[in-house]
Amino acid sequence: MVSRIWGTRNLAPWFPNAALTEPIGEVWLSGDACTAHSGPLQGQSLQAICSAQAEAMLGSGNDGHGSPLLIKILFAQEKLSVQVHPDDTLAQRQGQPRGKTECWYALEAAPGAEVACGLKAGVSLEAIEASLQDHTLEELLNVLPVAAGEMIFVDAGTVHAIWPGAVLLETQQNSDVTYRLYDYGRPRALHIRESLEALKLTTEAGKVPVLALEDREILVDCAYFRIERMQIHGMVSGDALAAKETQVSLSYLFGQSGSVTAIGQDGREIPWPEHTALAVPAQATPFQLESTDGATVLRIVAKRSQHGA
Ligand SMILES: [Zn+2]
Repeated sequence: MVSRIWGTRNLAPWFPNAALTEPIGEVWLSGDACTAHSGPLQGQSLQAICSAQAEAMLGSGNDGHGSPLLIKILFAQEKLSVQVHPDDTLAQRQGQPRGKTECWYALEAAPGAEVACGLKAGVSLEAIEASLQDHTLEELLNVLPVAAGEMIFVDAGTVHAIWPGAVLLETQQNSDVTYRLYDYGRPRALHIRESLEALKLTTEAGKVPVLALEDREILVDCAYFRIERMQIHGMVSGDALAAKETQVSLSYLFGQSGSVTAIGQDGREIPWPEHTALAVPAQATPFQLESTDGATVLRIVAKRSQHGA
């Protein structure tokens, strides 16, 4: 859990038992420093596990930079800064392993919840620079209403901001590079030159329509990740979850609602507390999921790098 000035002291119903002394903005589910909750690797960090067992965790041809995806739950009580992330090409030119394309899935949303996602049509770089001078950048942003269950795609280069009202499951390329373009007059440092270099006036960002398949819904599918929503009733094998795909690296399962039990091949129950991520390595041993009353699970798949190491 990461303290943020824009966070909350009440994580119910998502993490009702958390004892909070500071406002929490982010709960990281697959950060490099997140540790295995159970099993023979219990207590080891995801970073350590991914580097010691890169091929088993990430598959062959992985880029050697740990978990490709960082998954967080965001609890914004105030506006987050308006920011932009570089794409792979720009990030790598600056010595970073990767850029940051991300997406937001609304776990819940209050009436009137909004986010800023991209620029209005026709906005020029000059208009952005002028708006930074007179503090009117917000007028140039494309504002989207957010409802529970919706997916919003935010590719690298998109000017964006998370605003209060929704609890968002954020999936992103595991990268640390964020440039803060505008902070509503708050005193935090800005990175205007870097932001202007990284931003793109038009991108692919926006709401993604749900693609309904026979056994799952595809919420988003891009070069870096695919997120599926599945209903689990009774017993389902891990192989069936991973139907019809070849280029998978590490994937994660997130229990959105309902109770699910994960069972390993030896019949042992794998602890999977509600609203946490279950990491499924590229070379996972067989497992099963069981839900007697039915559950909604998100499957977050890291696609294998096209570039190799
Ligand atoms: Zn972002």
